[in-house]
Amino acid sequence: MTLRLFNTLSGQLDELVPSDGHALRMYACGPTVYDYGHIGNFRTFLEIDVLRRFLKLIGMRLQHVMNITDVDDKIIRNAAQAGVSIGDYTRPYVEAFFEDLEALRIERPEQIARATEHIPRMVELIQKLVAAGAAYRTDDGSWYFRLASFPAYGKLSKKDLSGMEDGARVDVDEYEKDSARDFALWKAAKPGETSWETPIGRGRPGWHIECSAMSMEFLGDSFDLHAGGEDLMFPHHENEIAQSESVTHQTFARHWMHVRFLLVDGRKMSKSEGNFFTLRDLLLKGYKASAIRLALISVPYRHQLNFTFDGLVDATAAIGRLRTFHARLRAGKFPPGETPEMQAAAEKALNDYMAALSNDLNTAEARAPIFDLVRAANTAMDQDRFLAGDRDAVAKVLADFDAVFSVIEDRDTEPTRRAIAWAQQAGRAADIAPELLAKSSITDEEINALLAERDTAKKRRDFQRADQIRKQLTDIGILIEDSKDGVRWKRK
Ligand SMILES: [Zn+2]
Repeated sequence: MTLRLFNTLSGQLDELVPSDGHALRMYACGPTVYDYGHIGNFRTFLEIDVLRRFLKLIGMRLQHVMNITDVDDKIIRNAAQAGVSIGDYTRPYVEAFFEDLEALRIERPEQIARATEHIPRMVELIQKLVAAGAAYRTDDGSWYFRLASFPAYGKLSKKDLSGMEDGARVDVDEYEKDSARDFALWKAAKPGETSWETPIGRGRPGWHIECSAMSMEFLGDSFDLHAGGEDLMFPHHENEIAQSESVTHQTFARHWMHVRFLLVDGRKMSKSEGNFFTLRDLLLKGYKASAIRLALISVPYRHQLNFTFDGLVDATAAIGRLRTFHARLRAGKFPPGETPEMQAAAEKALNDYMAALSNDLNTAEARAPIFDLVRAANTAMDQDRFLAGDRDAVAKVLADFDAVFSVIEDRDTEPTRRAIAWAQQAGRAADIAPELLAKSSITDEEINALLAERDTAKKRRDFQRADQIRKQLTDIGILIEDSKDGVRWKRK
C-alpha cells in the first residue's frame, strides 16, 4: 500500500515514497513560541500527525524534522516589553507546546530543531547566497535576498509575479504583500535587541532562512516532503525554496503538503471576534483532549474545517461509542469459532478504511466504515451471533483505526488535570468550568477506594452507605456501571 498525497508543487496527487528507498525525509514548519498554541495551529500539527501515523501504519520509516522558531520579530518585541531575555520569554511557551502535543497525542518528530541553536548554519547559508550573487548587504548591515536572481520564484504558490519590482525590500518576518519583495535574510542588530556576533556582522536571522538552513542540515539539500499550514505557502515556503535552490541548484523539497485553515462557527478565528481558542481554553471548558483531536482531524486536511461546539459534542459521543464497544469486545465471553458475516464485515471495513486514507488522507471517508462495523458487531453481539474469532478480526480493525486516529484508549484525565493546575497557577482559575473542577478534584485511586468500600458495604447489606457512595460519585460526574463482570466507572 502507498499514499497518494496532493502535492502543491506539482498540483496533483503524487505517490509519496522515500527517494533513498529507506526513510521518508520530511520537514514540517513548527511553532513560533510567543504564545499558547490555538486550535488552528493544532489542526495543522494534527493533520501532519495523521500523515505520520498512516505512513508508519503502511510500514514506512520516517525522518521527520520540526523547527521551533524561538527568535523572530514578535518574540524580540514581547521579550523586550517584558524586560526578559528571549530564552526566558519563550521557555514557558516551548514547554506548553510540548504538553499540548502530548495532550492531543501528536507524536514527536524524530528531530526537533530550535532556531537559536543553529545560527552558524544560517550564517553559512547566507554566505553561500552572497557568493552565488543572490544576496546583498544594505547600509545598516542587514542582508537581503535578491528576488530578481531567482526566476523560478512563485512556482509553489503559482503567483504571477510579473509586476515584481527589482530592489523593493521588506524587512518584517511575516508579510502578505501580493507583489513579492526582496526579503531579509539577516537583520542588523538594533540597540537593546538580542543579537549574535557572526562573520556577516552582528545581528539575527530572518524567519525564512531558519527553515532552509535547518531542513538541509538534517535532511540534505534535497528531500522528500515539506509540510505546513496553508498560510505559510506564500511567502515563507516560496522564500525557503528561493534560498535553498539558489545555492544547491537542486529541487529543495519534491513534495509539498499544505493544511487548510479552520473557521470557528463559520468565521475566521480572531481574538477581536471572540471566537479564538487555545487548546487550554477548550480543556478548561470541560471538553476532552480526545474529542478535540477527533473533531480537528475528521475533516480531511485539504478541506476547510468549520469548528463548532456542536462538533465537539458529536466527537465526544462518537468516542464514547467506540470506547464502550471496545470494552464490550474485550470483556465479552464469546463462544469459539467465527461467523462468515463478521469476518467479511471486518475485512471490508479495514479495506475501505485503508483505501480512504491512502487517497490523500481522507479521514472523513476513513472513519465511516469503522462506525459501521461497530454498529454491525454490536447488533451481532446482541443477537448472540458473535464468536471469539470475530473478536480478533474486529479488534485488528480497531487497532489499525486507532494507530492513526488515536482516540480509543482513554488518556483524557491527565491533560485535563494539567490544564486545571496550569490555570490555577496562571491566574486563570475563573476560566475553569465548575463541574470540571469537582470531577477532576478526585483521583482514580480515590474513586477505586470508594468503589471498594461500596462493594464491602453491599456485601454486609449496608445499602444506605452503598447508595451514598454512588450518589457522591455521580454528583461529580463519575458514571458507575454495574455489570456481571464487576463494576466499571468513567468520567462523564
Ligand atoms: Zn518554516
